Amino acid sequence: MAVTLTGDLLQIYDALFTSFGHQHWWPAKTPFETMVGAILTQNVSWTNAAQAVRNLEDAGMFDPHLLTAADTADIARLIVPSRYYNQKAERIREFAGVYVREFGADPAAMAAVETGELRERLLALRGFGEETADTILLYACEKPVFVVDAYTRRIFSRYGLLPEGASYDRTQRLFADNLEEDAELFNDYHAQIVHLGKTICKKSPLCDRCPIREIHGALWCAVGRG
Ligand code: SF4
Repeated sequence: MAVTLTGDLLQIYDALFTSFGHQHWWPAKTPFETMVGAILTQNVSWTNAAQAVRNLEDAGMFDPHLLTAADTADIARLIVPSRYYNQKAERIREFAGVYVREFGADPAAMAAVETGELRERLLALRGFGEETADTILLYACEKPVFVVDAYTRRIFSRYGLLPEGASYDRTQRLFADNLEEDAELFNDYHAQIVHLGKTICKKSPLCDRCPIREIHGALWCAVGRG
């Protein structure tokens, strides 16, 4: 019988949840704001992206029709804190156009599209990688798609549950193959991983503060236990 990692992954999540509490992601007022936030946070910290989100909000620009009609340079000026702002302004404008034309600027219409088909559509957009597409699928469309980032790879390879340098797809399958498709669980699990990676499992890990270093003496991190 194949060994599954379901119990281990759930225990890790429970330990993170117990230690950090629910993370209440995504920090946005509307699904469209989440979608734009997913683009703004590419290659920068959320602190930087959040300032760009606030600037768009203060300028009354969180409207897909306005963003579609806006000059790229005007969008770029508002999102300078997110870095790579010229590129991101183009991506946001293009995405807003697709959102209006193909989904009627209606998040429910977008979420009604079959998950694989919608993922392909997003990945076909310029500048959209798997992490951005999956972030939109999970956090804006509430699809049960596990989001993978650098923290996920780092933590779970240190734990010994992934080979070092595992691909996006290989990492995603660790969760997708072993957990039930549950958008709420995937939502908070990814958020917990980000919190652990930011605060404790950093490049130089602070293992003595880690809530998953050893769980009930039966499950432990290969790196943390030494
Ligand atoms: S025990 Fe250390 S290396 Fe392992 S997950 Fe925790 S912080 Fe990272």
